[in-house]
Amino acid sequence: MKRWIDLRSDTVTKPTAAMRRAMAEAEVGDDVFGEDPTVNALQERAAQLFGREAALFVPSGMMGNQIALKVHTQPGDEVILEEASHIFNAELAMMGAFSGVMPRPVPTERGFMRWEQIEPLIRPKVYYYSQTTLICLENTHNFKGGGIYPLEWAREIIARAHERGLKVHLDGARIFNAAVATQKSVRELTEGFDSVMFCLSKGLGAPVGSMLVGSREFIEQARRVRKMLGGGMRQAGILAAAGLYALEHHVERLREDHENAQLLAQELKKIPEISLEPVETNIIVFTLQKTPAERLVHALRERGILVHAIGPRKIRLVTHLDVSRSDVLSAAGAIAEILQR
Ligand SMILES: *Cc1c(COP(=O)(O)O)cnc(C)c1O
Repeated sequence: MKRWIDLRSDTVTKPTAAMRRAMAEAEVGDDVFGEDPTVNALQERAAQLFGREAALFVPSGMMGNQIALKVHTQPGDEVILEEASHIFNAELAMMGAFSGVMPRPVPTERGFMRWEQIEPLIRPKVYYYSQTTLICLENTHNFKGGGIYPLEWAREIIARAHERGLKVHLDGARIFNAAVATQKSVRELTEGFDSVMFCLSKGLGAPVGSMLVGSREFIEQARRVRKMLGGGMRQAGILAAAGLYALEHHVERLREDHENAQLLAQELKKIPEISLEPVETNIIVFTLQKTPAERLVHALRERGILVHAIGPRKIRLVTHLDVSRSDVLSAAGAIAEILQR
């Protein structure tokens, strides 16, 4: 089988042999009855890591986010989020379709809103206006290049939002990347949020699954909404075992992905055609001056390298568990060769 260098996303990681063993050996039960010991262990571990009362295993990050939106809002409410956020752009308008809420998107440079931008968008508490009830932040920011939310900005938003009676949800799909890069715990980075979603199936390398963490009351409601969406799974311990394994063995190694991303960035900076956005974690976004993004995507594919076009001239590369230092150097070499031809 041909070996691809797959830089499209960190979702492409495959379970390692040791992770597969942990999955094969998992004790299981019926999780809809709350009887799967491995799911329960994963939920307890996640709650503990984030310093929360409870956690819930969900099939995908999108389901985790959408459950949080449903629990925190009523139909007709408004939700403030960033213009390029995953919830607004890559979840099929489900916030409208399922929760019946209206997005108020905020433009930013790197994906991080400040309280000063949010405050004027909050609807006055007047009966003939729809009501703002929720703010969603994203850390790290996916489509704007994997940047880390400035902690003080997030904390200010949480404090001010709570004074106004608003809830704040974190789409923390890659919060562990932010934690490793800043050498802070996920608990410290997510303190005060009313709910947090994070993905096991991205850089952490599990095949399936995400988690929601929050108060016991929030998680109880979330479990109901998960069931509404058909996300009540039975012997899900086989999947949860991969998540537990990932939290145990694959967090610290995210550092390697960040180092590989830096190495790749260094090489790409030498190519005049490319303007690179700052690289903070495992995501690299660059703009091509003349070449259409699709042309580069195709030329790389012929060389066994997969990358993702996220705009007419924009490319995203993501480093992960299944990409080595030498893969990254090969990719950089191929990009240079194609663009300088
Ligand atoms: C991947 C991702 C999600 C959704 O995860 P899925 O498991 O693919 O549904 C949500 N938010 C962000 C920022 C992501 O990168």
